[in-house]
Amino acid sequence: MKDCRAAVVTAHNKPLEIQRVPIPALDPGSLLVKIAASTLCGTDVHRWHGPLGDGDTLPIITGHEPCGYVEDIAGERTDILGNPVKRGDRIVWSYVACGSCYYCAVALQPCICPGRASWGHNRSDQPPYLLGSCAEYMYVPPPCLIIKVPEGVSSASAAASTTASAKPAATAASTALPPSWKMSAPAVAESGLPVIAIQCSAWSGGFSV
Ligand SMILES: [Zn+2]
Ligand SMILES: [Zn+2]
Repeated sequence: MKDCRAAVVTAHNKPLEIQRVPIPALDPGSLLVKIAASTLCGTDVHRWHGPLGDGDTLPIITGHEPCGYVEDIAGERTDILGNPVKRGDRIVWSYVACGSCYYCAVALQPCICPGRASWGHNRSDQPPYLLGSCAEYMYVPPPCLIIKVPEGVSSASAAASTTASAKPAATAASTALPPSWKMSAPAVAESGLPVIAIQCSAWSGGFSV
């Protein structure tokens, strides 16, 4: 498999183009995920209207709320609970944050980490190409935190919850999770990922519930 289809923004305020985009070689620790669902939010619409002032240049694959099945893994990875991630697992994943800078480790604000990377606004004609979720496959960089999607949660619901779960998951990783995490996880699985996001954030000092 050398390439796959993706919905590409080639011009602002114009219809998206379905293009074939290369599938990159996997760096150690990275994954290739077959997208099961991708939801869109206002940010995607804003980026379609025009750049958001952070240097975005076209073409881009839109979409930053993905859920999908692990197609390939370069090496061994675990989810945020320490369980091995395998081919075929249905997952969501965080943005990239360094985990050790002031914003990650002290302020617990990985969303403003200088090393932060997110999706839906990266050039699709430059490696690793597949960094938007409106595509058949997406590249997951090595630093991303992975959450396995519980069986009772639909892929669409999981994708829609990623904006809520990505930042708390990154925050949780930059702090020590208390022992109650592992005891509570099975109960959380029944109620869905938004609850995981809220509990991750609450346990790591993000906010009170
Ligand atoms: Zn969003
Ligand atoms: Zn950082």
